[in-house]
Amino acid sequence: MKILSVENLSRSFGGIKANNDISFEVIEGTILGVIGPNGAGKSTLFDLITGYTKTDNGKVSFFNKDISGLSPDKISSLGIGRTFQKLKPFADQTLLENVMIGSFVKEDNIKKARDKALEIIDFVDLIEKRHHFARELSTGQRKRLEMARAMAIEPKLLLMDEVTGGVDQKTIPGLVELIKKLKKSGVTIITIEHNINIIMEISDNILALDQGKRIAYGTPKEIQQNEEVIDSYLGT
Ligand code: ADP
Ligand code: MG
Repeated sequence: MKILSVENLSRSFGGIKANNDISFEVIEGTILGVIGPNGAGKSTLFDLITGYTKTDNGKVSFFNKDISGLSPDKISSLGIGRTFQKLKPFADQTLLENVMIGSFVKEDNIKKARDKALEIIDFVDLIEKRHHFARELSTGQRKRLEMARAMAIEPKLLLMDEVTGGVDQKTIPGLVELIKKLKKSGVTIITIEHNINIIMEISDNILALDQGKRIAYGTPKEIQQNEEVIDSYLGT
């Protein structure tokens, strides 16, 4: 079952084609990995899917419903969650409060919203930190909190922007395991990731962007054999 369909998506900023005629599909229950050098248009693609940026051209469908042009709030309420490359937790609120802001969208009952938030905080392995302020967390823990905040709306599709970016090497495997656990729980995932080994390991399909264009799209095996990708990433 197709959960997301992106057709001929384009967006320019001044003279820069940040996304240039991008098309792809995501099958429910799978992970799509998105790779590409800095400035390739990866974060812009997320902004277009989630309504944070208006598209110049093209169409985004979620469960075959056209969601192009809807507001970020509306898109989120339909079941598309996202994390941001630049983390945005409420620094002076506790983890529990941070996640409850999201779970309140789904639960009008405070006890239920709290229980749901605690369940998610436990899922991301931060339960002992639930009463700590977000600013007290390490970068790796803040990444987990960012995932928990996105999960609080109970998304069917979760977009994650560089979850393992900016964290130290020893923190990465735990975050990768968390992404896998999230997939197992039934959430469909699109993840932007710089580390090619991680992308090859976790993705069912991979989309490679460069200068706003789709340069490759296929299974990890297909991508590994793609000349353009080899030149940009896998070469020596
Ligand atoms: P990536 O996430 O792959 O590093 P981005 O999507 O952030 O790339 O950026 C793609 C291009 O679009 C870059 O040249 C960037 O400077 C430009 N861009 C992105 N967002 C904006 C914006 N809001 N205003 C102007 N230019 C932007
Ligand atoms: Mg980016």
